[in-house]
Amino acid sequence: MKSVNFINKVAEGVLAGKKVSLAQADRLSAVSGDELYSLFNAAYRIRKRFRANKVELCAITNARSGGCSEDCAFCAQSSWHKTKVPLYPLLEPDEIYRRAKRAEDLGVGYFCIVTSGRRLGNKKDFLKICKSVSKIRSRLKLKVDASLGELSLDQAKALKDAGLFRYNHNLETARSLYARVCTTHNYADRLKTIENVKMAGLELCCGGIFGMGETRKQRLELFFALKDISPECIPVNFLNPIPGTKLERKNPLPPLEFLKIIAILRFIFPRQEIKVCGGREANLRSLQPFLFLAGSDSIIIGDYLTTKGNPPRADLEMIQDLGLSVN
Ligand code: SF4
Repeated sequence: MKSVNFINKVAEGVLAGKKVSLAQADRLSAVSGDELYSLFNAAYRIRKRFRANKVELCAITNARSGGCSEDCAFCAQSSWHKTKVPLYPLLEPDEIYRRAKRAEDLGVGYFCIVTSGRRLGNKKDFLKICKSVSKIRSRLKLKVDASLGELSLDQAKALKDAGLFRYNHNLETARSLYARVCTTHNYADRLKTIENVKMAGLELCCGGIFGMGETRKQRLELFFALKDISPECIPVNFLNPIPGTKLERKNPLPPLEFLKIIAILRFIFPRQEIKVCGGREANLRSLQPFLFLAGSDSIIIGDYLTTKGNPPRADLEMIQDLGLSVN
């Protein structure tokens, strides 16, 4: 069967409620050349059916920066790397609230509090985060998300009680590649936190970073590991090699390859939020508007943890120019 016919047949199946098999995803991931446009178009139809023409916006804040004990190869905040990231302890709840208010004024729906480090072990710091979440929830309409590293079940429950809506903890990459990305903790540690988040009744935001040297098969391995976990939101990060990190010399993938990742994820996760996060500007470059046409329905707006993003006004204009609307 010709690729275009195959793409359309699988898309019809997804629109009718069928699941994509590993063999089908494998064949979709082999699509290349101008047949990619057929793949994007089919992913767009799926996105339109299940997610409408709405775009979710999420702003993130780095509430504790740098000095991390872990050696994640991509991360500018690891103390194993010599980078120029600022080093500061946990922000006070009033400052986190001020940042959330600025995000709400921009029109975003989600605000994510992120801290560097393997976990938030210090009880005083953890209580500060709970206080920040409660304050934002009591005064603003934002849904609050957090990414604080490993989380115990008790901590997950406490965050839920404070008003947290969603928790981010990525698988980062395929299990078979994980030991080359991080040696100070393992894949099973990540799965444990994910289990705790789900047991506490929080929504789960879980995805990965692409362009770290994974093979096509390893990409599929990650997609289907995510499928087993079934997160409500799948963040898609593209490696932005930061000078001083272990991956500083990695060559970026072509923008169309990144768009293909988004499209295949939309086939596998027709109803979930697919959020394009770090590395968007550097990797997609002039093709950024295509991320919505290839199946994504969500982006991070504003600056990232350690790198600059587009000016928010430019992203809002892009969404409006595409005829999409902010949720
Ligand atoms: S990704 Fe998280 S755990 Fe890994 S080095 Fe960066 S801050 Fe530390």
